[in-house]
Amino acid sequence: MNDAILVINSGSSSLKFVILAEEGNSITVEGIAEGLGFENGQLSIKFNGQKSTSTLSPSDHKSALMGINEWLEQHADIKSALTGIGHRVVHGGEFFSSSVLINNSIIQTINECTDLAPLHNPAHLKGIDLAQSLFPSLPQVAVFDTAFHQTLTKEQYLYGIPMRLYKEHHVRKYGFHGTSYRYISQKLGEIQPESLHQGVLVAHLGNGASVCAIQNGQSTDTSMGFTPLDGLIMGTRSGSIDPSLIAFIAEKDDLTLSETTNILNKESGLLGISELSNDCRTLEEAMQAGNNQATLALDMFASRAAKQLMSAATTLTTINHLVFTGGIGENSQYIRNKITDYLSAFNIQIDKAKNSTVVKDEASLISNDDQAIQVWVIPTNEEKMIALDTLDLITKKSLN
Ligand code: AMP
Repeated sequence: MNDAILVINSGSSSLKFVILAEEGNSITVEGIAEGLGFENGQLSIKFNGQKSTSTLSPSDHKSALMGINEWLEQHADIKSALTGIGHRVVHGGEFFSSSVLINNSIIQTINECTDLAPLHNPAHLKGIDLAQSLFPSLPQVAVFDTAFHQTLTKEQYLYGIPMRLYKEHHVRKYGFHGTSYRYISQKLGEIQPESLHQGVLVAHLGNGASVCAIQNGQSTDTSMGFTPLDGLIMGTRSGSIDPSLIAFIAEKDDLTLSETTNILNKESGLLGISELSNDCRTLEEAMQAGNNQATLALDMFASRAAKQLMSAATTLTTINHLVFTGGIGENSQYIRNKITDYLSAFNIQIDKAKNSTVVKDEASLISNDDQAIQVWVIPTNEEKMIALDTLDLITKKSLN
């Protein structure tokens, strides 16, 4: 094995990692440290079909990465195959429109974006700092969720609020899930090369959900905004609502602004509507058992997704492809069916039989051959995209 890349997603209370080899195509080992900063933090590592779990003491990011390093020391062939580390970074502000090799000035710039992602960026920086001290000889790369959407025009990314707020506080649409959209755009380009010169809509539907319009391989609009709260109804997030509701809810329930925002982030969406669960699979089971509120939540999710897709489509010259991805997009035939039903006025139709026989982990065309707009299910792979960016930047560095 050679050219293995360690991909790290360091969050506020968890740290996920995966080591990918063979140009990002094969997972060697993967794991997650959870409960960081709380009692009983744990590190789980999955290797060769076996999962091992250990308790972290102290329960923090440092112990998690030290645990990963200890495991690597016991698997010297894997450690010696590592050529680089790729870090997922949520927010790159207006500074980063592509992935970058990490150095001190990059770290400083990521830190400058902390205002925009106060929960995420400090956790990423912690992961980067620790990885640099534990693996000093490995080049490290930052891959930003926001970078792909830096091609949006001002008409799309500005809000209809005083320009001063953009100029002074960088208030604008940034968009997220960019690494997933870039992966899907490239993957569709491998299957249908002409798609790289066409208009593509992508619905990334997971616990977090958004849509993206891609013209000629570049993002032209997306549904998440200044934060990942905007746009679609999600697992626990409200998506777009009338902004006046924030003051109204705060007043009625006697809440602070941050308590109100917490409701919109953590208690809304599928969970809030169904009063049962944020999980699409659980809601589909409940729907089948006759729970009308679960059906309502799923149908509202689909309706809003369809609306957001058509809103983003206004930035395309033609709609040639619609791609479903993410845990829900890849697995829920009910949601795909419903969304495309809502889109029938736009000549977007699927073959119901093909929709019900999608093979897991494979790209599938679910529209009929006579349809002008091709509808796809394509599994996303953000970790692979991070590994490929890391390999690419390391190779370019070694050529310089
Ligand atoms: P993600 O955030 O991309 O991991 O997606 C998580 C979401 O995908 C959850 O709402 C899951 O319930 C949903 N999901 C995963 N598998 C299925 C499935 N077979 N049917 C319906 N929803 C699924």
